[in-house]
Amino acid sequence: MKIVVIAGDGIGPETMSVATDVLGVLSDCFGLNLVLQPELGGHDSLKKYGTTIRNGLLDDVKQADGLILGPMSTYDFKDESKGEINPSKFFRKELDLFANIRPAKTYVGSGNVYKPLDLVVVRENTEGFYADRNMESGGSEMLVTHDVVVSLRRITRECCERIARAAFDLAMTRRKHVTIVHKANVLRIGDGMFIDSCHHVAKAYPEVRVDDVIVDAMMAHVVRTPERYDVLVTTNMFGDILSDLTAELAGSLGMAGSINAGARYAMAQAAHGSAPDIAGKNIANPFSQVISAAMLLAWYGQQQKRSEFIRASEALHVAIAKTIAAGEGTADVGGSHGTRQAGDALVKHLKQSL
Ligand code: NAD
Repeated sequence: MKIVVIAGDGIGPETMSVATDVLGVLSDCFGLNLVLQPELGGHDSLKKYGTTIRNGLLDDVKQADGLILGPMSTYDFKDESKGEINPSKFFRKELDLFANIRPAKTYVGSGNVYKPLDLVVVRENTEGFYADRNMESGGSEMLVTHDVVVSLRRITRECCERIARAAFDLAMTRRKHVTIVHKANVLRIGDGMFIDSCHHVAKAYPEVRVDDVIVDAMMAHVVRTPERYDVLVTTNMFGDILSDLTAELAGSLGMAGSINAGARYAMAQAAHGSAPDIAGKNIANPFSQVISAAMLLAWYGQQQKRSEFIRASEALHVAIAKTIAAGEGTADVGGSHGTRQAGDALVKHLKQSL
C-alpha cells in the first residue's frame, strides 16, 4: 500500500512523525509493505513551490492507495491566485471524498471524560454551505455591495443519498441506529430533501433504527444523553460543527481522528486544525493523527479485502486504549507525556500486545 504523507502546518510535523513511526511498526508486524511517500503541502509548499499544492501532486496522490493529510492552517489561505489553495478542500473536491467519517469515543483513564460515549458523525463533505467546493467554478459566497454578502448552499439528491448509504453501511457494522441531523424546520426544501433521501435509502436497511433530530436540539441531546446515539448523518456544515463538539465530549479534540472517503480514494485527516497555540511545544495529542491513519488502513483493507490491514487497525485501537489507561497519553487525555513520549509509549504498547 503506497500512502502519500503530508505533515501539514502547526502541530502537523510533531503529530505526523508519531503516525509514521506507528505505521512503520504496523507494516513490519502485519506484513503490510507500506510505502510512505512524504510530500509538502500548506505553508511549507507555499514557501518552496509558491503554492500550497504543487503541480503534479494530485496525480501522485491518485496513483497512490491513500493520502494522509496533516492539519492545515486553512484560514491563512485566502487567495488562490497567489497559490493559497485550501489543501483540505482541494483533495475533498478533486478526489470526490464525499463521506467525512468522524468517530467520537471515550477511553478509560482519559481525564476529561464527561460521559461515556461511542458514536460516529457521518458528514457530507462536498456541498452544503461550503462556498469553496459547492460550485464547478468560482465560489458561492458573493459580495453584492460592500455591506451585503450572499452565500449559496447546494444540496443535491445524489449527494444526500450517497452520504446516507455511507451512514447506513457503517451502522450495519455497529449498533444499527442512524440519527438524521437537520434543520428542515427552516431550510425546508434543502434539508427536507436530505431527510427524504435518508429515509429512501433506509428502506434498503430494514434492520437499522432511524430517527431524526433538529440540529440545535441535537447539540443539547448529545451533551445530555450521548449514549443514546450511534451514527449521526448530516450535511456539511452541521457535521463540521457537531463533530468538534462530540470529539471534545469524548475527551479531547486531540483524539478526533477522521477519514474522508469516496468511491475510489480516501484521505486520513484529523478533524482539528493546525493548533498554532500549541505548535512546537511537544504537547499536542498525536492520537488523532494515528487514529486517522488507522481508519485509512481499515478502509483499504475493506476495499481490497485484505484482513491484515483491518487487524492492524484494530491492534492500533487496542494499543491506544492501553496507552491512555496507563496515563501515558498527553495531558488533554489525562496523561503526563509529551507528543513524542506519548508516541513512544503507544509503540511500546503496540509491540507488547503483538
Ligand atoms: P484547531 O482545531 O486548530 O484548534 C482548536 C483547539 O483545539 C485549540 O485550543 C488547539 O490547541 C486544540 N487542539 C487541536 N488539536 C489538538 C491536538 N492534537 N492535541 C491537543 N489539542 C488540540 O482550531 P483553530 O485554532 O481555530 O484553527 C487553527 C487553524 O487550523 C486555522 O487556520 C483553521 O482554519 C485551521 N483548521 C483546519 C481544519 C482542517 O484542515 N480540517 C480544521 C479546523 C481548523
